[in-house]
Formats: sequence, C-alpha cells, structure tokens
Amino acid sequence: MSIQEIANLLIDAGIEKNEANAEVKLLLEHYCNFKPIDIIFGKKLDTSKLSIVREKVLERIRTNMPVQYIMGFGYFMGEKFIVNKNVLIPRYETEILVNKVVEKALTMNAKKILDIGTGSGCIACSIAKAIDGYILGIDISNEALNVAYENAKRLFLDKRVDFRQSDLFSKIELNEKFDIIVSNPPYIPPQEKENLQKEVLKEPELALFTKDEKGLEFYEKIIKEAPKFLNKNGYIMFEIGLGQSEDVKRFLTDNGFKDIEVEKDLANIDRVIFAHI
Ligand code: GLN
Repeated sequence: MSIQEIANLLIDAGIEKNEANAEVKLLLEHYCNFKPIDIIFGKKLDTSKLSIVREKVLERIRTNMPVQYIMGFGYFMGEKFIVNKNVLIPRYETEILVNKVVEKALTMNAKKILDIGTGSGCIACSIAKAIDGYILGIDISNEALNVAYENAKRLFLDKRVDFRQSDLFSKIELNEKFDIIVSNPPYIPPQEKENLQKEVLKEPELALFTKDEKGLEFYEKIIKEAPKFLNKNGYIMFEIGLGQSEDVKRFLTDNGFKDIEVEKDLANIDRVIFAHI
C-alpha cells in the first residue's frame, strides 16, 4: 500500500482531492513522523506504520470523524492544539483574525485582552505567545475550558492566559477593563445545517450555530455590552461569516464604535472586522 493508494481511499469515498491529500499529510506526520520534505531527502517510510495510517483513514471514512478529532489535535498558527468533540477545530481563517489582533495589540501596547468563546483556547494562546500581556479566555462550556487549560499548559502559557466559565459577559466584573475584546463566535444560521459537510456536524453545535436566521446573535449581544468592558480607545475584533459584514458594521456604528475596518480572506470574503470605541 502506497501513500497515493491511501489518499485514493479518501478520494473514492467522495472527499475532494486537495482535502484528501492534506488529511493524509497530517496523518503521516502524526503516526509515521514523516513529512513531504522527507521524500526529497530520501527518508524511507516505515511501511508497518503506513498500515496505521490506512486504519485511521478507514475509520475516518466509516465515521465521518474529522482527522483532527481522530488524532486528538489540530494545527493553528504553527502550533499543535489539543482538540476533542467539545471544541471547534481551529481554522485557517481564524489565523487572519489572530494576526490582526497581534498587530493591533503591538501598536497600541495592549496589556489586557478578552477572548469570548475561547473553545480550544487557540486564539487566546496564540495571542499570548506573541505579546507581553494578559489574556482571559471565557466560554460557556466547561468541557471546552478543560481543553483550553490543557493547551495553555502544554505551551507554557498558563501564567499569562487565564480561563473562566462565563456566558458572554455574565461573569466579567464591570471594573475588569480590556484593551481588546476578540471573538470568533458561532455564526452559522441554524437552517444551514443541512448544507454542511458531515464532518463539520461532528463539531459541537454550541460552537457552530446561532439561533437567529442570519447568524448574527452573538455579534449583536457582544457589541451592545462591549463598551462597558473596554478601556478608552479599546478595540473589538471579530471573525465573521459570508455576507455578515454590513450587519455587523451597523451594530458597531449604532453602539458608538469608530474607524471600522474589514479584512478579507483568501477567497475574497470579508472575514475579520474591527473597530474602536
Ligand atoms: N475561539 C475558538 C476558535 O476560534 C472557538 C470558536 C467557536 O467555538 N466558535 O477556534
């Protein structure tokens, strides 16, 4: 059995070619310690280990379980993050948000940042790695927070990243002010559920869906309350979904936010939005 034959198992099961190759690459690296670059250097692949990858691919096809849940981690900003079914798998698009937050935090010398709906803690930990400040990650789910704690510990960031169970701002005190509030909240409208890939539906519903039909519930709630918890000139920064930027801009303007900026993703979709109070 060759690497290509394993990729073909996925392709024959209806998984798009680039996705299939990316998944095999992740599995090879994890279970065989084998990277594409090793081919160039003539490193031999241990064929007995290749059968483990084949088993994992068959499991993935049988269960529609994302490979990141099978391996127990996903990559984000060049780091490994532990993931399980209680947290969303970190996405490339969220790296655009983190890069913007870090850039902003460095220019304004931000010292306190709040990450709402921290999930695996991937945003909070990545920011903490890049800046000298304190990050508080909050989430409604204790199961998610357990994963976030583990990630912060593994990355030796647990001195500068803290986590707290809180339904949005419910457990944040009014005297706790932040320089930046960041969030990648659930933003998929519930009626989209039937159009999603089976793999995405293995991720927690709590992290994916809103109750309203436009996927805007969390932006509206967060933007309304955020001014109370921001320092002067403090920033609010979000990841957003397809077609949501105009509505989010309106919420921001209506609540006194200024200098709204939008950043696009590689597919030219408005993906990140930010403004200051
Ligand atoms: N903050 C986490 C992430 O960006 C979780 C987001 C969510 O569950 N909606 O991956």
